[in-house]
Parts: sequence; structure tokens; C-alpha cells
Amino acid sequence: MKRAVFPGSFDPITIGHEAIINRALPLFDEIVLAIGVNSNKSYFFTLEERISVLEKCFEGQPKISIASYSGLTTEYCKTIKASHILRGLRTAADFEFERTIALMNKKMAPELETIFLISEPEHSAISSTVVRDILKNGGDISDFVPTNFPKK
Ligand code: ADP
Repeated sequence: MKRAVFPGSFDPITIGHEAIINRALPLFDEIVLAIGVNSNKSYFFTLEERISVLEKCFEGQPKISIASYSGLTTEYCKTIKASHILRGLRTAADFEFERTIALMNKKMAPELETIFLISEPEHSAISSTVVRDILKNGGDISDFVPTNFPKK
């Protein structure tokens, strides 16, 4: 059983995340979309809302499960016996940020591998931050979020 964890805030999920998940599906038996809960961070959507959005977006996808966790991602991966961490890379800035985390994770849990998928060019400018800004300003986010994203 090859299980990957895709950790993220998913505040909210975008078509960029969705594309990475769909491209990774053939590589794993299961992908756990794991919402990391950081009590020092404030979020736009509540944890319950983010879980319910993910459930709706991946309804009927047997290889995808949704979870939340707090604490270290490596510890969470060990607990659920995941062998891989999945992340997406849009830009050089993403790469620098992700490189540090992946190296630290490797040090803490050598048996865990992080795999990165390079974002498709048309998704490289899409971020949860931009989607939140559009929402705050009353704009239409439908081009940037998965088709089943619930209407508010
Ligand atoms: P975090 O708060 O951990 O950065 P995010 O939900 O913002 O969580 O992102 C989770 C992962 O998805 C990260 O690896 C990020 O680089 C990746 N990601 C975010 N947006 C995109 C996108 N448009 N295309 C590809 N990967 C993306």
C-alpha cells in the first residue's frame, strides 16, 4: 500500500492543487489530503469548511481521503504509515521554501520521501491568497477553484 500525504492549508483549494493531486493519483494507492492545523495562523475558511470543500471536490474518488492534523508533518505521516509527502512547485520561490522543509523532514524521518510535481504553466500564478482576495472583494472565483467547489 503506497500512501502519500499532501499537506497544505487548502484555504481554499484551487485548480492548481487539484491538478497536482490528479497527476499524482496514478503514482499512489492512496493520497491523504491533510489540512495542517497551526494555532498561530489565522485562516479565511474554518477547518470544518475546508474539510467539507475537499470532500465535495473529491466525492467518489476512492483513492483520496481527507484529514486534518496538528504538529509535525513527519510525525503525522508516521502515524498513518505514509511513505511519501506530495508538494507542488510553481516558482523558484516555492522551490527555495520547499527545499528547506524537505531537507528538514528528511533529517527527521529518513524513510519518508518528498516528491514534487512542477505546476503546469497555466496554474503557476494561481494561489489560495489570490482566491481569498477575489472573495473578499466580491469577485467570481469559479475559474480558479475545482468544478464541485460549493457556492457560498
Ligand atoms: P501551505 O500553507 O502548506 O503552503 P497550500 O495549501 O498553500 O499550503 O499549498 C500546499 C501545496 O500546494 C504547496 O506545495 C504549494 O506549493 C502547492 N500549490 C499551491 N498552489 C499551487 C498551484 N497553483 N499549482 C501547483 N501547486 C500549488
